[in-house]
Amino acid sequence: MNSKSIGIAALLLVSSTTLFAQAKPEDTEIWSPEPKVVTPGKTNTDPPSDAIILFNGTDEHEWVNVKDTNSTAAWKLHDGILTVDKAVGDIETKRRFTNYQLHIEWRIPSDITGSGQARGNSGVFLASPGDGDEGYELQVLDNYNNKTYVNGQAGSIYKQNPPLVNANKKPGEWQSYDVIWTAPTFNADGSLATAARVTVLFNGVLVQNNFSLLGPTLYIGKPAYKAHGASPIKLQAHGDKSEPVSYRNIWVRPL
Ligand code: MG
Repeated sequence: MNSKSIGIAALLLVSSTTLFAQAKPEDTEIWSPEPKVVTPGKTNTDPPSDAIILFNGTDEHEWVNVKDTNSTAAWKLHDGILTVDKAVGDIETKRRFTNYQLHIEWRIPSDITGSGQARGNSGVFLASPGDGDEGYELQVLDNYNNKTYVNGQAGSIYKQNPPLVNANKKPGEWQSYDVIWTAPTFNADGSLATAARVTVLFNGVLVQNNFSLLGPTLYIGKPAYKAHGASPIKLQAHGDKSEPVSYRNIWVRPL
């Protein structure tokens, strides 16, 4: 090695030492703001301390009848559970939500009859900006042993995306959805800026993994977005002839 190359080697050693001296573990530590303290529920199905309780078995004051949003919802409240009343129709939350985490439990009657879409059909509309069936439906149905189109199964985003797996429990058992909902956003001219996205755990099993919705879920036709803001969460009273579905333990954490 001549003196020139010794010089270059020395220079490289010095600069690398300097570089290592500059990088410290503390450089990549974030200390504030600190995450807010939230006390978890006793189990993962119990509401954490910052949840809004939408139904805990005592009353329906967080809900209204979709046909008359000035009236309190009047589904059948009994034994701490809420059972669909098909004569009353759909119910929705008084509150409006944008992005949130939702927990909701539902039960298909043990004596359920019917087949296909006419067997325990209900649904959780994750946002319901307008009247009627407009909105984004996470399907509720008995698919323990019931064949239907796969993008209409329990755990599907109706007519848009089938569940990743069939995680149904048998009729008579309580089942749960845990949902992370990211609302769509719109430009000032009403055009879509970002699509709605949803992640769903069905009985603790991942069935929707950050799925981007194509628009509201439609019975017939291709979905298309229409601009809207914060919206109620709606529960479906489906017109099929089968025995009605029940709900319990509904809570939400706006994000
Ligand atoms: Mg439905």
